[in-house]
Amino acid sequence: MGNLPGIVITGASGRMGQMLLRTVLASDKCRLAGAVERTGNPWVGRDVGEMLGGQHVGVTVTDDALEAFAKAQAVIDFTAPAATVEFAALAAQARAVHVIGTTGLEAEHLAKIAAAARHAVIVRAGNMSLGVNLLVKLTQKVAEALDADWDVEIVEAHHNKKIDAPSGTALMLGEAAAEGRGVSLAQMRESGRDGITGARAHGAIGFSAIRGGDIVGEHDVIFAGAGERVILRHVATDRGIFARGALRAAIWGQNKSPGEYDMIDVLGL
Ligand code: NAP
Repeated sequence: MGNLPGIVITGASGRMGQMLLRTVLASDKCRLAGAVERTGNPWVGRDVGEMLGGQHVGVTVTDDALEAFAKAQAVIDFTAPAATVEFAALAAQARAVHVIGTTGLEAEHLAKIAAAARHAVIVRAGNMSLGVNLLVKLTQKVAEALDADWDVEIVEAHHNKKIDAPSGTALMLGEAAAEGRGVSLAQMRESGRDGITGARAHGAIGFSAIRGGDIVGEHDVIFAGAGERVILRHVATDRGIFARGALRAAIWGQNKSPGEYDMIDVLGL
């Protein structure tokens, strides 16, 4: 037990935080070394098992991230950009692998994460599932095969509590399509259409977002040509796929050289 990698979960009381805690507690490949929440969260000071509605597990939710990270080999972090940037610096200080699932990261956050990755292993992906990462590869291949006369549209659907759009996964798919075409997504991206938008720009990569109910995550990559369409689709029905992928990344990252990796590296796709 003592030799198993110790994992800390940040944002422990969040939707993904709770799923990650359950996944780590059920795994025989790692142990739960800590659970972090921000100061003022009502679960701080209470047992993780109680938060999950079960038996005590002997790990208390803490708001002292550095102390928790210092006792762990990996940190799994599905929180918010400002928190993730702070956790990246602390995890690097503790030489713990930092698995980042947080989405909505902007250039300023990514620069700080890259700085932390000079000293520690960081695995970051907008989607940690095997199926989506496969979809990313397929999108790149199809975009390579079809020219810009095929309009690329990425349509995503998520639950009504999601705060960012397009989803991190939609952006990963957009990047893959852009890479396959040899163009920059920043230049070709088209999102938030409303009103008299004019005709679609040739070669644009379009994004649309649907928000509602408890949808876990659905992504379509549509290649619309003249007289035919190719549609690649992934449907997630259970958040467990992201948690299992993140745990796999945390274990994979042990003893790797410092740097930034993604799930394509972890899954060897
Ligand atoms: P959520 O239920 O809102 O949970 C977020 C958690 O992070 C909460 O516990 C929240 O604490 C905590 N948090 C937020 N800001 C913080 C801060 N500044 N310091 C410390 N803790 C902070 O959200 P979720 O649905 O679990 O999603 C979390 C993130 O994961 C989102 O970015 C989402 O898009 C992403 N996600 C990624 C994947 C993937 O595979 N990569 C899959 C699913 C979700 P409070 O309650 O105190 O605010």
